[in-house]
Amino acid sequence: MRYQTLAASCLRRLGRRAHKIPLDAGFTCPNRDGTLSHGGCVFCNPSGSGTGLLLKGFGLRAQWDRLTARFSGRPDPPLLWAYLQSFSNTHGPAQKLAAALEAMAALPGIDGLCLGTRPDSLDDEKLDLLAAFPHAERRLEIGLQSANDATLDRIGRGHDAACFARAAHAAASRGLLVCAHVMAGLPGESPDDFLATVDFAATLPVDSIKLHNTLVVRHSRLEALWRSGGYRPMDRQDYVALAAAAIARLRSDMTVERINADAAPDELLAPAWAADKSGLIRDIRTCLADADSWQGRDRDAPDAMPQW
Ligand code: SF4
Repeated sequence: MRYQTLAASCLRRLGRRAHKIPLDAGFTCPNRDGTLSHGGCVFCNPSGSGTGLLLKGFGLRAQWDRLTARFSGRPDPPLLWAYLQSFSNTHGPAQKLAAALEAMAALPGIDGLCLGTRPDSLDDEKLDLLAAFPHAERRLEIGLQSANDATLDRIGRGHDAACFARAAHAAASRGLLVCAHVMAGLPGESPDDFLATVDFAATLPVDSIKLHNTLVVRHSRLEALWRSGGYRPMDRQDYVALAAAAIARLRSDMTVERINADAAPDELLAPAWAADKSGLIRDIRTCLADADSWQGRDRDAPDAMPQW
């Protein structure tokens, strides 16, 4: 493999693969509930990629039991990480986060926590709560999307790049593993803007990264822009080449958790090529191989491909 996947990283560090169990703890987002705005980021739709299971009456324990049942009795079960993915899971009072963490810490067979949020929804009290989670793996996924403040303003993020840098430093100093989310093809951005974002993330105490191609999803503000002709998604071959170039610029010790975006089939409007997720991953890997490139080649490992 020409980059360090999450599976390879887990096998190397922990001796086993890990599986993220997506849970809904009922958090919202300051960019949706009116704290910052009601509009949300331009690419996000009101569901925030959430399942809404808590509102449907499924508590954390019921969600966990349902989603982990298939692993029980296996001879080689993966490590199981509770994953709060949708919306901003540190938004709101610290007591709400403390209660969710307490409930998750008690889930049977849990080995770790992954929690997604915004950089401006983290303060010292919340970071201390996360650092005190009583299972060894504590992963914090923080949305950066772009290191260009003009872009962040244009897409309605409501924070700047310096805010992400502060959050990454504060989290890493407490032993949390930080994963940066970044996006290629944002409105008004060039490929060089995306590579600058990747460079920015790689200079910070960021353990892992998720590379995403920007999608137009139903009911997002980007849908209206796209329908009016004001936004054109990247071409497939351009994203393949850009993702490969980004991987080469990462630190070789980072984990590359994702190299493509993942939309629900009924939400994706454009580009149509994004629906073929496995084909996209295959072609990015082929692009790296054809160029004899690898993660870190253009940063800290120019001479030989590391063994991950
Ligand atoms: S992308 Fe995240 S931060 Fe932006 S509106 Fe959606 S849930 Fe909120």
